[in-house]
Amino acid sequence: MEAPKFPANEERRLASLKAMKLLDTPIEDRFERVTRLARRSFGVPISAISLIDHDRQWFKSIQGLDATQTSREVSFCGHAINGDEVFVVQDSHDDDRFRDNPLVTGDPNIRFYAGCPVRSPDGFNIGTLCVIDREPRRFDADDIASLRDLARMVEDEFRLNLAKHSQEALIEELDRARLAASVDPLTRIWNRGAITEILKRELAQCARSGVGVGLLMIDFDHFKNINDRHGHLTGDAVLREGVARMLGIVRSGDAIGRYGGEEFMAVLPECHESDVEQIAERLRAIVSANPMTGSGEPIKVTVSLGGAWCPGYMSMEPEMLIQRADAAVYKAKANGRDRVEMTRYVD
Ligand code: GH3
Ligand code: MG
Ligand code: MG
Repeated sequence: MEAPKFPANEERRLASLKAMKLLDTPIEDRFERVTRLARRSFGVPISAISLIDHDRQWFKSIQGLDATQTSREVSFCGHAINGDEVFVVQDSHDDDRFRDNPLVTGDPNIRFYAGCPVRSPDGFNIGTLCVIDREPRRFDADDIASLRDLARMVEDEFRLNLAKHSQEALIEELDRARLAASVDPLTRIWNRGAITEILKRELAQCARSGVGVGLLMIDFDHFKNINDRHGHLTGDAVLREGVARMLGIVRSGDAIGRYGGEEFMAVLPECHESDVEQIAERLRAIVSANPMTGSGEPIKVTVSLGGAWCPGYMSMEPEMLIQRADAAVYKAKANGRDRVEMTRYVD
């Protein structure tokens, strides 16, 4: 096996990667949609946006594989960032550099790899957009051009200056270890502590700015039955797909976290009470619209949502808003599930 070499500009490259504050952050739909598209359009089982850190590759987004990182030493992407063109291994069994690589001889049994370097806004190859197959493949000039196009879309997202809401502020403030500890490992979104902190900050901000904040509690319906019927692993896959669907339709400043087992919380900054209800209804609809197929047989999944709102002129404790949203979920369950209820604000 040949370990990837370090590029000549490694030190500045790493500084550029770190300054981007992407490592160890929660998944974001703007990247998920690119890896989903890559996987579908090339018909491969695995696709990822890999960021090459000092001694590891960390996946900002990955489809088809349950991993968040591997060592840099065994990574294909570590090789890919050493050039500026798409790096292709059509058959790892025919390649001395990879034949005995543990990712080839063992899980996930990489046979084919194509990775296009992605650059930071200041021009360093910080990672790749890559596609992987467990069978050898040909990758022609058109495929290379398509992968390059998708990689440019990733770079466009890198350049995007997101409006600074509480979740971006939290990412700025936390060091990598604390950031990693704020993300739920199963769903790769904020965990309970972090989403509660985001709610606290948005409520404080709201009291200053005079614009309201919405809160949604989202509880999967009859989830115990899903586990009992299809197994716990399928249950996990359902939670992940539910999260991916919801992330795909919320506004960019909205934050979603895992509050407990199959219970999620969405913090909706800068909105009115009617917006809370509208967003909740869209979330309900996107989960139940099509059966979930991620794990094989289609499963009908629904969620019950409870919403609450704090007007901008009020100062409210997070616990109070959570309690109100909780009461609304309880109502939604009692009224038949797969529905939205609100605890309305009354002066
Ligand atoms: P309801 O419609 O009233 O919410 O019914 P429910 O079955 O969803 O409610 P309940 O709270 O009784 O059950 C929640 C279930 O979610 C039980 C628990 O085993 C399961 N669960 C919690 N966390 C996870 C997880 O991480 N993965 C999987 N697969 N199941 C989980
Ligand atoms: Mg439930
Ligand atoms: Mg529950």
